[in-house]
Amino acid sequence: MDYLITIWLAAGVAACIALCVRPAPYGRHAEAGWGPMVSGRTGWIVMESPALFTVLALFATAPRAAGAAGAAEIVFLLLWCLHYGNRAGLYALRMPPDSARMPVLIAFFGAVFHVVNGWLQGIWLFHRGTERGIGWLRDPRFVVGLVIFLGGMMLNWWADGVLLKLRRSGRYQIPRGGLFERVSCPNYLGEMIEWTGWAVLTWSAAGAAFAVWTAANLAPRAVSHHRWYRQQFPDYPTERRALIPF
Ligand code: NDP
Repeated sequence: MDYLITIWLAAGVAACIALCVRPAPYGRHAEAGWGPMVSGRTGWIVMESPALFTVLALFATAPRAAGAAGAAEIVFLLLWCLHYGNRAGLYALRMPPDSARMPVLIAFFGAVFHVVNGWLQGIWLFHRGTERGIGWLRDPRFVVGLVIFLGGMMLNWWADGVLLKLRRSGRYQIPRGGLFERVSCPNYLGEMIEWTGWAVLTWSAAGAAFAVWTAANLAPRAVSHHRWYRQQFPDYPTERRALIPF
């Protein structure tokens, strides 16, 4: 298992380097030459739902998922479903129909990522990792991790809500208010905080690897978004950073 996590981490670092050179071609960075496209909404559903199904399948086939001994595992599952139920369901359905289209290839790569990542999380949490009894729910690592996870999720959901509302106007605009006054991508910052919390609350190598992957994905994209905003809007606030305030 450890060597799989190491390979997965190395892949994350490679992806980060590639994304620093060229942003993933979806959303505002979409470009021609990536083959057939689907609506943003379809792309997000195809890309994100395997995360839900893979982890649910591994939970369902785990030998120890029932009863008090599995209480912590049930909470892990609920948190996972809360995030991906939103991302693959509510978030996707809230996207306006004219959102940027997504190359099928990107949706496919995203789906593969979520099968692999979901498999690593599910195997570690429900099959091979240290079994967490009900007592884990009182462990400081769980409590602190949960606060970080939920705090990150709230920030992510709030910022996504602001952006989706702007998008309904049919054009890109400068987002305003709250943490948007400090950073260009509070939704990415929230997501990174969230999966850091996941790593802490599960206290697992798989969770830590996912937190690294999220940063590897989103930090370069935040820089690309920030650069794009500054190119598109001459009056873009100069004090705003890409991802980390101040
Ligand atoms: P973006 O911020 O690029 O876009 C989010 C939505 O808001 C899109 O519908 C976009 O439209 C719209 N939008 C964004 N900025 C503006 C603006 N200034 N004016 C008007 N509309 C705007 O986020 P992503 O699409 O990259 O990601 C969506 C979610 O998925 C985020 O919460 C992110 O954290 C998460 N995610 C997580 C990853 C991980 O590794 N865990 C990886 C990638 C994303 P349009 O699509 O037309 O550009």
